[in-house]
Amino acid sequence: MRIKRLDIGGFKSFVDKASLDFQQGITGIVGPNGCGKSNVVDAIRWVMGEQSAKNLRGKSMEDVIFGGSELRKPVGMAEVSMVLSTDDGRVSAKYLGYHEIQVTRRLYRDGESEYFINKTPCRLMDITELFMDTGVGARAYSIIEQGKIGMILHSKPEERRFLIEEAAGVTKFKARKQVALKK
Ligand code: ATP
Ligand code: MG
Repeated sequence: MRIKRLDIGGFKSFVDKASLDFQQGITGIVGPNGCGKSNVVDAIRWVMGEQSAKNLRGKSMEDVIFGGSELRKPVGMAEVSMVLSTDDGRVSAKYLGYHEIQVTRRLYRDGESEYFINKTPCRLMDITELFMDTGVGARAYSIIEQGKIGMILHSKPEERRFLIEEAAGVTKFKARKQVALKK
């Protein structure tokens, strides 16, 4: 899977809707301090289902909603959509027939959350499953932020095992086993 486009609206500093196209190859995001580069990475992490406000550099999840500036009033909802290309075929069987998958997440100030895959409402779990074993999930290794390399090197064997299992493609089966055992 490859990121094709990211649509961000009401999320952190992106008060108006912004659309970012990602071409084949490497994309670099440049700009002065505080212009919102890291907020783009936060948006990607968030739309993939991140549940920890701390990992999004906030105190509570509400902090992802545009909170106002000198010129603009706060808004009531944050929405991020990510369009993925499935042309490399590395996608679970469920989505093999699709050229593109669009994943959307919304959060309202009253705390209500919505998740969509291809504009159809879904559960957070469906989004988590979509990314499992691709190396892209919230706990996976596709986003290497400052300090992450050191964290991996110093992590406990069980934590490191999680990354190895994700790379080996067994995370999904472990998650399903856990659900089955609970039933
Ligand atoms: P640096 O080069 O210093 O790493 P950056 O380009 O990565 O900067 P970001 O951290 O992405 O910058 O953006 C920080 C800006 O986003 C700050 O100006 C901050 O006020 C703004 N911001 C973050 N959350 C919100 C929010 N909920 N509402 C409005 N603005 C926000
Ligand atoms: Mg930054």
